[in-house]
Amino acid sequence: MSDQFRAILVSRDDEKKQSVEIVMLDKSKLMDGDVTVKVEATTVNYKDGLAITGKSPVVRHWPMIPGIDLAGSVINSDCNEFSPGDKVLLNGFGVGEAHWGGYASIARLKSDWLIKLPSNITPIQAMSIGTAGYTSMLCVMALERHGITPDQGPVIVTGANGGVGSVAIAILSKLGYQIIASTGRANEAEFLKELGANEIIDRNELSNPGRPMGKERWAGGIDAVGSHTLANLLAQTQYGGAIAACGLAQGFDLPATVMPFILRNVALLGVDSVMAPKQLREQAWKRIESDLDMSKLEAITTKIGFDDIIGAAADIIDGKIKGRVVVDMADI
Ligand code: NDP
Repeated sequence: MSDQFRAILVSRDDEKKQSVEIVMLDKSKLMDGDVTVKVEATTVNYKDGLAITGKSPVVRHWPMIPGIDLAGSVINSDCNEFSPGDKVLLNGFGVGEAHWGGYASIARLKSDWLIKLPSNITPIQAMSIGTAGYTSMLCVMALERHGITPDQGPVIVTGANGGVGSVAIAILSKLGYQIIASTGRANEAEFLKELGANEIIDRNELSNPGRPMGKERWAGGIDAVGSHTLANLLAQTQYGGAIAACGLAQGFDLPATVMPFILRNVALLGVDSVMAPKQLREQAWKRIESDLDMSKLEAITTKIGFDDIIGAAADIIDGKIKGRVVVDMADI
């Protein structure tokens, strides 16, 4: 077996100018961990786009192999939980930001970060879902914990054509919710309806400064966008409703008032996938197994090769990617 592996490496020079290249690295350079994994599939998330383009400072260790998600087979394990040949899955935990990640033929990781791949999900399917899709499920579970059920009224999904949004629509639709999809891409309305959206609205309706309170339009929401959009979502949520907030595609600010909270008992539910405890991750992936229609997942997904990752990273930041991107690592 070769002592080297192929990877995408993001580096910085003395003037902090960032560059990215595909390189061969010695396996001896892999960072510490107790499990070594052959990467069979990975994906391109918004955060990977930020890491590769340098648009936001998500990389915390230089040089870095990005890739916050991976699925593959265990090659070596120094822990009892995993054995060679086990299929495993990793989402987040700072991998691809502070620890070398999924854009490489192999990865050395801490066993605490890994979960076993659910038996009915292949590595390619797991990465079609990726952090974006698993976060959608965390959002759905947050709404359910708050008691938002399909009979209470529609649920709005923002950033509908993006990774989080499109998987959220597919899941909510299978669970029987009425879905309002907010998008800037009106030409994709048919695609969103096929996924399960019942109504499509223009994201401009929500992205500008609005009133502290508006007409009650939805029982709940999943927001991948933040900023004025999230403020307007809260202002138009019906009494006792809730919005699960997980993203900042418009901005990380929240120019809102407390009025929806104190007059309508509206709740704002924060959702983080990166440091979510293992038990919650396992629960979310079990729910994905039962509540995500895999034929819809296929319709959302574009498959690319390892050499296409750098281009896809720029595209996701430019808002040009529809749905999810999966990287088949078979030919790396
Ligand atoms: P994508 O880039 O795939 O999707 C984002 C979508 O947001 C776009 O497709 C677009 O949807 C919409 N959008 C983009 N720019 C704007 C804008 N200026 N104003 C309004 N809407 C906009 O990213 P993901 O779905 O993977 O991630 C979405 C967000 O969630 C990101 O901010 C990401 O960092 C965050 N995230 C957070 C996680 C967590 O743990 N909390 C985990 C995963 C993601 P359309 O074209 O339909 O308008």
